Amino acid sequence: MVWSRLLSRPSCERSRTLTEVPFSSPRMKDTLSQRTRRVIASPTQRVTQDAAELRRQGIDVVDLGAGEPDFLTPSHINAAGIAAITEGFTKYTANAGIPELREAICARYAEAYGITSTPASTIVSAGGKQALFNVAMALLDPGDEVITHAPCWPTIVDQVRLVGASPVIARTHSEDGFAVHAGPILEAVTAQTKAIVINSPGNPTGGLISESELATIAQEAARRGIWVVLDLCYEQLIYADAPHNLPRVLSEIAPDSSVLVGTLSKSYAMTGWRCGWAVGPPRLIAACNNIQSHCTSNVSSISQRAGVVALTSPQTCVTEMRDEYQSRRDTLLQWLSVEPRITCVRPAGAFYLFPDVSQLLSPDMLRTSSDLASALLRHAHVAVTPGEAFDAPGYVRISYAASRDRLREAVDRIERFIADLDRGLIEERSSQDSVSRSDQTPA
Ligand code: PMP
Repeated sequence: MVWSRLLSRPSCERSRTLTEVPFSSPRMKDTLSQRTRRVIASPTQRVTQDAAELRRQGIDVVDLGAGEPDFLTPSHINAAGIAAITEGFTKYTANAGIPELREAICARYAEAYGITSTPASTIVSAGGKQALFNVAMALLDPGDEVITHAPCWPTIVDQVRLVGASPVIARTHSEDGFAVHAGPILEAVTAQTKAIVINSPGNPTGGLISESELATIAQEAARRGIWVVLDLCYEQLIYADAPHNLPRVLSEIAPDSSVLVGTLSKSYAMTGWRCGWAVGPPRLIAACNNIQSHCTSNVSSISQRAGVVALTSPQTCVTEMRDEYQSRRDTLLQWLSVEPRITCVRPAGAFYLFPDVSQLLSPDMLRTSSDLASALLRHAHVAVTPGEAFDAPGYVRISYAASRDRLREAVDRIERFIADLDRGLIEERSSQDSVSRSDQTPA
C-alpha cells in the first residue's frame, strides 16, 4: 500500500509531495516521535504474549507470568454489568465517571481509611494505569525528575519517560522484604524533583512502606513542593499484620500535593473491565479530567455500573480471594524451599513471589535471569517474568494467581528443569529464539 491511495483526495493539496512515498520508503524511517524511542512495550505483557504463542502451538504452558487474578469476576459484579447492557446503559457518561461510582470510591476510602474525599476530587479512568498516566501528564514537564523505588513495575518508570521527564531510582532490598524507606528516596531529591511515586504493596516484590516512613517522605515533600503519588493498586492484598493507612498519612500531611491511585483490577478480579481511579486535590483531578477528555473519555459505562456494585456490596469476595492468595503464597514458598539456590523472602502483599535465582546462573550456561526465564519457558513450558523487567537482574517474578494444581505442576517442572540444568542438558540461550528477545530489559 502507498500513501497515494490514502491521500489522493483532491482537497489534500498539501499532501502532494507525499503521494508517491510508499510505506517502506527509507524517507519514512525515523519519523516516529522521539517519545516512541524512550520506551519499549511493557515487558510484563510480553511474557504473556510469548506464553500465548506457545499455547497456540498446542503446548501446555503453566503461565505464572501474568499479573492478574486467575479468579473469575464475582457473579454479582458480572450481573451488574449485564444489567447495564440490557437496561441500555451503554452511552457516553460523564468523562470523570458516573457520580454513583465516584461517590462509592469516596465512601470506600472513608470507610477503609477515615479520609474525606469528594466526587470533585475523584476521576475514574481505564485502570490504575491510565489514572497514573493522567497524573504524569498533568504534573510533569521535560526536565522534571521523578523518584520511585526499584525493583518496580516498569510502567511507572516508562510513563515518566513518555512524558519527557526523568525517572530516578531508589533501591529496595530483599534483606528487609523490599520495604520502601524514606532515606534513599529523600537522598535522591534534587532541585528538579517534581514527584515521588510510591507503590505499596509493590509489584513485583510485595514490599510495603510503613506509615512512619511515608510520613517522613510526605513531610519533606510538602516542605519542598514535591508531589507524592501513591499507587495502591494492591491495597486490599496485604497479608502481613502491618498498619497500612497510607491515605490518612498523606491526607494529614500533604493534602494539596498528594494523589492516590486505585483499581478494581486486582482486588475484584476485574482486570479486563478497565476501571481504576485517582483521588487527589480538585485542581489536579480537573487537569486529569481535561487530559482524559481528549484521549479515551469515560471508562466503559458497563464497567462503571459493575464498579459501583463491586465497591458497595459486601466485601466477602475480596477477603475470600485474599485468604486464598495468602495460603497459596505460603504453600508455594514451602514447595520452592526444597531448592536452596532459589531464595525468596515472604512477600507482605500482592500476589507475586520475587525469588533471587542468581545462584542458578553461570557465565557458560544461563547468564542472566532473562536467559533463565526464556529457557524455562522453552524447555519446561513455565512462564515467569525475568527480574530485568523490573530493573532487578538476578530475580524472577512468579505470580501465584494460579490454581494450586497449576502451581504444583509448575514447581515439578521447575525442579526437573533445574535437574537438567545441573546435568548440562539445557543449552545456552539462542539469540534467534522467538521467546527470548534481548529487549526484555526495560530501562
Ligand atoms: N500499579 C501496579 C503496581 C500494577 O502492577 C498494575 C497492574 N499490573 C497497575 C498499577 C495497573 O493495573 P490496572 O491498570 O489494571 O488497574
